[in-house]
Amino acid sequence: MYTDKVMDHFENPRNVGELEGADGVGTVGNAKCGDIMKMYIKVADDKITDIKFKTFGCGAAIATSSIATELVKGKSVKEAQELTNKAVAEALGGLPPAKMHCSNLAADALKKAIDNYLGLETKNECEDHHHHEHNDFDHGCSI
Ligand SMILES: [Zn+2]
Repeated sequence: MYTDKVMDHFENPRNVGELEGADGVGTVGNAKCGDIMKMYIKVADDKITDIKFKTFGCGAAIATSSIATELVKGKSVKEAQELTNKAVAEALGGLPPAKMHCSNLAADALKKAIDNYLGLETKNECEDHHHHEHNDFDHGCSI
């Protein structure tokens, strides 16, 4: 069901944790799985110098956030903003179709963290998430 790369990032996730004094923080929730992701970035000279994430979620969510941090670390803010869910999934060698929504989290959390860094106002998707909480039971997120 999962590629070796997904399993590798799930079992040994990179850049897990919190960044103290982060320049930007983004949090997103996923209504379908109940996944929650928090992304922290440090920016210097318009480059993402450090990035960490915390995920309360399924294996696919962990693997996608792990690889997303690797993909954007050292990149410019603009390049990081252009990271797509598709690119994240492709870097993992693909995800099962039922798990594609989990890959949305990583790119979305990153974009929110960048918005936060840039001082842009974004709506809180976690609020929205609560309205759909009852749907979580319809969608098993076991790995
Ligand atoms: Zn998920």
